[in-house]
Amino acid sequence: VNPDATAADVAAVLKHVTAQLPGHEDRPGQMRMAELVAEAIQSEKHVVVQAGTGTGKSLAYLVPAILSGRHVVVATATKALQDQLATKDLPFLDQHLGQPFEWAILKGRSNYLCLQRLREATAKGDGQLQLDDLAPTVRAEIARLATWATSTGTGDQAELSWAPNPRAWEAVSVSAEQCPGAARCPLGEPCFAEAARRRAAEADVLVVNTHLYGMHVASGGVLLPEHDVVVFDEAHQLEDTISSTAGLRISAGRFSAVAASVRAIVDDDGLAGAIAGAGADLAAALAPLAGRRIALPMPDALVDALAAGRRHLDVAQEALRNIDPPLVDAQQRKLRAQRASTSLTNDLDKAMDVPPQHVAWVAGPDHQPALEVAPIDVGPLLDAAVWGVRTAVLTSATIPLGLPRRVGLDEDAVDVLDVGSPFDYDANALLYCAAHLPDPRHATFAAKVHDELEALVLAAGGRTLALFTSWRAMREAAEALRGRLPFRILTQDELPKPALVEAFSTDESSCLFATAGLFQGIDVPGASLSLVTIDRIPFPRPDDPLLEARRELAGSSAFQVVDLPRASTLLAQAAGRLIRNATDRGVVAVFDPRLAKAAYRWDVVRALPPMRRTKHRDEAERFLRDLRGA
Ligand code: SF4
Repeated sequence: VNPDATAADVAAVLKHVTAQLPGHEDRPGQMRMAELVAEAIQSEKHVVVQAGTGTGKSLAYLVPAILSGRHVVVATATKALQDQLATKDLPFLDQHLGQPFEWAILKGRSNYLCLQRLREATAKGDGQLQLDDLAPTVRAEIARLATWATSTGTGDQAELSWAPNPRAWEAVSVSAEQCPGAARCPLGEPCFAEAARRRAAEADVLVVNTHLYGMHVASGGVLLPEHDVVVFDEAHQLEDTISSTAGLRISAGRFSAVAASVRAIVDDDGLAGAIAGAGADLAAALAPLAGRRIALPMPDALVDALAAGRRHLDVAQEALRNIDPPLVDAQQRKLRAQRASTSLTNDLDKAMDVPPQHVAWVAGPDHQPALEVAPIDVGPLLDAAVWGVRTAVLTSATIPLGLPRRVGLDEDAVDVLDVGSPFDYDANALLYCAAHLPDPRHATFAAKVHDELEALVLAAGGRTLALFTSWRAMREAAEALRGRLPFRILTQDELPKPALVEAFSTDESSCLFATAGLFQGIDVPGASLSLVTIDRIPFPRPDDPLLEARRELAGSSAFQVVDLPRASTLLAQAAGRLIRNATDRGVVAVFDPRLAKAAYRWDVVRALPPMRRTKHRDEAERFLRDLRGA
């Protein structure tokens, strides 16, 4: 460890380390990023780094972070990235860095098997009664999990080689809001979640997901160990993740969960039924407002439903206080029921008195409405918990315009830099915009998109990821083109995502039609993907309640600071699916003519990878045919 390690020292170590990678080649962007991170840690000045796909971002922040000897938390937006760090990058550095360091992964409590709940579920006695409603197959899975618990070192669900039924896992795990904590649990000492926390406290590098980091921020900083540096990977999602973790969500499902925990310990079916009923009444009051923002002060019918729910929880709390179960397991069930109902009570209180600068709305789906409350601006929260107390590194392949301002980073306190991409986009990729198409709101737009798709997909020989901004547009296109194209067309609603991506990757000429869920997080290098199409610039819905509140806060610049950065980043993420390695080649086709004509078009184009551009479809078709010839 060298706390004074200069950017040059870090660069030398990174060069030595990456030379051990199979098929290694120099990556100037990775080197530059490592130097920037080293300088940021040294000078304690935040840095925002845009680093294109293939830069090798993880090593570029891990090497300087470890060499600095500081305590570092890496917050990843996706589970896939967390797994990549845990199974690839950190073990690799362990072996090759030449400097010992401790690292750990920490997840939310419900990811770990709870030994106390497992004991209750498998002991003979009244704990078993809770399982009576479960199907025999689910009970068989619980028995399997009990066997696994004797051999696993971590109790982390991700280690299982099979996917348990959610009801089986639910029976042997607890949420953070239910767990009474190690000091009040008879199995707190051998507890898997507690062991993970102890490892986290000793780690030099701790990897969490941004959701857990957001809970840490919302809790006032009590969830994670002290740290000097935080790295936010996939930082383009930071604002939304912090907003959702700092807010609250109340649904009928939460009332049912509390009712179940009360039923497990209080011998009064009427009480549990009343709690579940209060949840159903709240859902009925929310249903007419589904998808809508709630004007404050809240409508009386909603306040009455929340207040009624709270009264039933008060009765439950009283009943729980009045029982004193003699057996340890029953005492634990009482504690869990108390904690779950207290947590819901606190959220009901907050919902009935929404704090200033927060927005309330009813989220879907329509048949399961939920009341959500979130801060409109996450800046003050992050300023107090992060920017003001530790050094932050924010990185992504696509940093949205104005990101620092959106998350409350003082522009003078942060360097924003772009280290480019290792790929030759100019030679390997062509951006085609169908400038001649009508405006997307025009009645003929969908039919014209289908014609464009047909011509381009034929030229590409299939191998297409066709992305749509709505399910309806996706289904209509799939239906229209199935009879016109000689290739297999997969749609996103056919299979779960991993199976879908697997089918698309292995059947080389197949096409995958998908929606916003696959604009990011799909990685298909090689010949199976030569064409990515996007029907429209993916502007957010005008009636999204949270964004509507953010627009009001932004005033006359709302389009520039709220809508445009989101649309540009999402389009760039979608376009980024095409080139995944140095030999990938292909076309990105955007059917929205606003990309070629609108006043804001350059803001969108500049966010995209630096591809050669054309408005002529024949040029795009030729490019695709040449690829097949090659
Ligand atoms: S402390 Fe006890 S109740 Fe909490 S997760 Fe661990 S074993 Fe389960």
